[in-house]
Amino acid sequence: MSINVTRSSMPDYEEYIEAIKDLWDSHWLTNMGEKHRKLQAQLEAMHKVPHVTLYTNGHLALEAAWAVLNLPKGGEVITTPFTFVSTTHAIARSGLIPVFCDVKEDDYTMDPAKIEALITDKTVAICPVHVYGNMCDVEDIDAIAKKYNLKVVYDAAHAFGVTYKGVSSACFGDISMYSFHATKVFNTIEGGALCYQNDDYVQVLNDLKNFGIHAPESTPYIGGNAKMNEFQAAMGLCNLRHFDRELIKRKRVFEQYQDFLGNMAGIRILQPQKDVVPNYAYFPVVFDEYKYHRDQVFDRLAQNNIIARKYFYPITNELECYRHLSKDNTPIAKRLSETVLCLPMYADLRDEDIEKICKIIKESKKEKQVNP
Ligand SMILES: *Cc1c(COP(=O)(O)O)cnc(C)c1O
Repeated sequence: MSINVTRSSMPDYEEYIEAIKDLWDSHWLTNMGEKHRKLQAQLEAMHKVPHVTLYTNGHLALEAAWAVLNLPKGGEVITTPFTFVSTTHAIARSGLIPVFCDVKEDDYTMDPAKIEALITDKTVAICPVHVYGNMCDVEDIDAIAKKYNLKVVYDAAHAFGVTYKGVSSACFGDISMYSFHATKVFNTIEGGALCYQNDDYVQVLNDLKNFGIHAPESTPYIGGNAKMNEFQAAMGLCNLRHFDRELIKRKRVFEQYQDFLGNMAGIRILQPQKDVVPNYAYFPVVFDEYKYHRDQVFDRLAQNNIIARKYFYPITNELECYRHLSKDNTPIAKRLSETVLCLPMYADLRDEDIEKICKIIKESKKEKQVNP
């Protein structure tokens, strides 16, 4: 059997069946049902954030964030190319123009020192990504945003459960987006959420995700359909019960990997960030080109039925649809994308599998180079 890069967390079968049973009484399957409201309230309490709006997926949540901010079309959004393509697409599909900023060597998040040089009179917002659950430099980014009067939307798809100085990743910027896709640390099968402080957004976002309909005879907005349904919310309510235990298991996997790979020359693993409680969402490994070659390691693992993921490769400003916007000014992100590999990471990954993965990596070491 092959080992995949991830394996979705699921409650016991009976627990989920119990959670959805009453839907056969109510016949209320979507449109802000009881389970939807319950999950929303639990998430607001958990993250100590005034407002959570739930979505059928994280991508549509991101698009909704841009819609509610209502920024002028053609406005520029400074963002990172070292992300899943959804981040960049949400900006572009909202009539805004992604402007790519390089990332930092140490934690792969947007480098605040490189933001100001990219600001023009068209800049309207910053869209950083808490990549792999690493928190961005939220204080520096927020200071720049204030100085230039820019909005900030955090793509926090990877950062559910992460806190910085005791504050949830839900609480930064104007809006933060979580993805609850099956592959994320917390899932609702497919799903997502926007988290924010501004009371004025609540009704607009609720209307926007339901075709812009405000009342039976009132449709003030050109909205889409992005509602979370009751089966998704029920999965979320179940998975949320087990979230803390899942994190403990993930931490164990992380530590096992760390023991095997932590001191190996030619391999760099994630380092803990100051004041951050992590969620162990991913296990990215960066290979130097000298002792290891990323693609060779990937192939060798694949030959052994271990499916790692070149995540993120390529960076989004190298994709066909964004190449024309790239100024080739993100060398750190580019190099990272060519050398990084996400190893299998999920709560129930077995000790012997971790050992096997690490052994194969060690065996993938390049032939010894002869010094001249
Ligand atoms: C998963 C992900 C998304 C999109 O979320 P979906 O729920 O899959 O639509 C956006 N950004 C990042 C960084 C992601 O990893």
